[in-house]
Amino acid sequence: MLSARSEPVANSRRGRLRTCVGCRREAAPDDLVRVVLGADGAVVPDLAGGSLGRGAWLHPEPRCLAQAAPAGLSASFRARVLTSPDELWALLRAAADRRVAALLGAARRAGKLEVGATAVDQALLDGRAELVMLAVDARAAASGAACGRAIAEGRGLAWGSKETLGRALGRSEVAAAAVVDRGLSQALKRAVAMAHMPAPSNTSDGRGAPASSRADGPTEDR
Ligand SMILES: [Zn+2]
Repeated sequence: MLSARSEPVANSRRGRLRTCVGCRREAAPDDLVRVVLGADGAVVPDLAGGSLGRGAWLHPEPRCLAQAAPAGLSASFRARVLTSPDELWALLRAAADRRVAALLGAARRAGKLEVGATAVDQALLDGRAELVMLAVDARAAASGAACGRAIAEGRGLAWGSKETLGRALGRSEVAAAAVVDRGLSQALKRAVAMAHMPAPSNTSDGRGAPASSRADGPTEDR
């Protein structure tokens, strides 16, 4: 059924293109999320990549979730998947929050993070800050002139409370942190976007999407 598909084009960044089990379009792995089928038949997000097991890929978008769960994933895994679009959304959002915290921790350990309003402002003035992470309950306090400019330029992202941001960085509370590494910033932007993804049931995109009727689908074994 997929035999008419042309050979996947090699992706210059990493690996070949993958097919979304929702919309069936091909995309680079960076633009998709991987889920695996757990031993108990549950769908498990694999945002960091590399989890063993049968995997499927999808766009982290309400419309693709609505098509993937459960029809697209059932066809892809050749197994009865019972996960609803909103359940898959909740799983992906929770996994995205864990991924953001893990990436922030990795940035801190690698010395690629400036923490606190003063250090953040300095990194912005130096032009080293690729991304500023702001706690949602600290925007006013953390928004100096430089921070405000970063937000206006699309380099500021709100995620978590001061406590959540602090926990990810081994402190009690953090209002703002600047990431000074491009790769980590891009990974963080993708994870934060997923953490803020609207629910399929709250999105007109997620309604009326025709479920895939294909008997097989793109899966892979690792
Ligand atoms: Zn898709």
